[in-house]
Amino acid sequence: MRYPPEFVDRVQEANNLADIIAQYTQLKQSGNGHMGRCPFPDHAEKTPSFSVSESKQVYHCFGCKKSGNIFSFLRDYNGMSFPEAVEYLAERASIPLPEIQTDRNENNNQHQIQQDSKKLMLKANKIAANFFSETLKRAPSDHPIKTYIQKRKLKPETIEEFQIGYAPIEWEGLAHHLQRQNVSSALAEEAKLIRARKEGNGHFDSFRDRLMFPILSPMQDVLAFGGRIHDQGEPKYLNSPETLVFNKGRVLYGLAHTAKYIRSEDAVIIVEGYMDLVSLFQAGLKNVA
Ligand code: ZN
Repeated sequence: MRYPPEFVDRVQEANNLADIIAQYTQLKQSGNGHMGRCPFPDHAEKTPSFSVSESKQVYHCFGCKKSGNIFSFLRDYNGMSFPEAVEYLAERASIPLPEIQTDRNENNNQHQIQQDSKKLMLKANKIAANFFSETLKRAPSDHPIKTYIQKRKLKPETIEEFQIGYAPIEWEGLAHHLQRQNVSSALAEEAKLIRARKEGNGHFDSFRDRLMFPILSPMQDVLAFGGRIHDQGEPKYLNSPETLVFNKGRVLYGLAHTAKYIRSEDAVIIVEGYMDLVSLFQAGLKNVA
């Protein structure tokens, strides 16, 4: 996939490098730029030596000498290819991608096919996350889930930040919603959002009557879900099984929100449950995973 240079320029201009980097390390205004601790994991430092120039849209670390622009940052920090970085930045700035003729070789490319299935699955997960979040918002104030949230003293801004939602108690709430959003049941099943009935046709939701915590990538993609019971019952936490986009060994819940605090504190508090993390974060202890 090749994007025309004018398009690449437009996408680059629509995004601020400092905003991207601030997702991973805390930046402070300094002169006409920003300084912070180096976000790169191979450079652990106590005093900030990482600078970002607002006017030039470049970064430079005086410690490990890494430097570059928005594309090299996304490549070196997030492992994105150039086209992936362009697509990510375009989406971030709500710029539609240009129609591009893909040649046949590229269409047949196995890697491309897998990338496409990953994208579709992330999209399905995002639709599910929005559904859970809306369901929570729409629940009446005397609903048991709202009582539970009150009991745990979760603030609206925390629910917003972590995109916490509610999987309804009915059996096919999400299944029907995905259908209405044109997500095929094969894809939704592969994403482990729904399961096929053992007898007869149709599908039912994998998560029911649970407080839902989307597990996000550093790029804020929804990789999977953790669902917590709000009443008595087992299991207390139910997690998505591994999928094409979710590798349990490689993801720690909360990092999408807390990585920059962990880096600036140079310490991490490891907790057991989603609720523990969210509660600590809300209480101001933000270097948690
Ligand atoms: Zn560095």
